[in-house]
Amino acid sequence: MKKVYLTIDDSPSNNTDALTDFLFEKKVPAVLFARGEFMDPEKGNQEGFDKIVRAIKKGFIIANHSYAHERTSEIGFENQTSQIARTQLLIDQAYEEAGAEKPPRYFRFPHLDRGCGNAHAIDFNTVPEQYRDYVQHLFWDGVRLETKEPPTLAQKQLKNDVQNWLSENGFKKFPTPDVSLPWWTQSELGQAIDSLVTFSTSDWMVTPRHIGKWPVASVDDIKTKMENDPWLNREDSAHIVLMHDDREDLLTITENIVNYMLNSNFTFLKP
Ligand SMILES: [Zn+2]
Repeated sequence: MKKVYLTIDDSPSNNTDALTDFLFEKKVPAVLFARGEFMDPEKGNQEGFDKIVRAIKKGFIIANHSYAHERTSEIGFENQTSQIARTQLLIDQAYEEAGAEKPPRYFRFPHLDRGCGNAHAIDFNTVPEQYRDYVQHLFWDGVRLETKEPPTLAQKQLKNDVQNWLSENGFKKFPTPDVSLPWWTQSELGQAIDSLVTFSTSDWMVTPRHIGKWPVASVDDIKTKMENDPWLNREDSAHIVLMHDDREDLLTITENIVNYMLNSNFTFLKP
């Protein structure tokens, strides 16, 4: 049996109610990484806040994806940590409103930019050499890169500082006990406080805004990417799969991919 933890970034959107209804009906658990500005009543997004409350009531875990979806390497320590804190307040309020017990605090960096730019989300030198190429492609093919420049000393310090801040502010490593991939457990990936991924569907490349500009240009391309991945289809370790809750067309894409996975013998694990 192939196992995955499903993680969905950029909630809430126009689709969140339909998306969570669909997943609930299929008995697919997921973690939704929410963007603070989309669920902030003070920003006029009461509707977004209510969607998150409903998702909690349906049993989904809401995690933190910062406030304005900015790159840590560009905005720096003070700005990013205050955005994370502001978002966490909203998430805590949503749990109170839902009358549900708060789970531990989980966080994922927007663009997977952890302070060193997303091309160097992790220090690839921590990955055993035989897996390094694969892991580099995981990041370089799965996220929108601005630059591949190696990080500066100041950026490395920034990354450490934010990790420490997360730890000091009650954020926990998202528990994925079934992930035993050697390039995860033996590298920085498995030690990070924030929530990283082991597989990106690249679903965002298929949205109207991006379609045709990237290697993945259709749902079939996503399926091909999944079929050809040397690690995703192994049964000896679970994966942490990244999808998105964003833009009109993604709901059908998400439904399509989740159905495809259910039909391909994937089991969705409860985080
Ligand atoms: Zn995002």
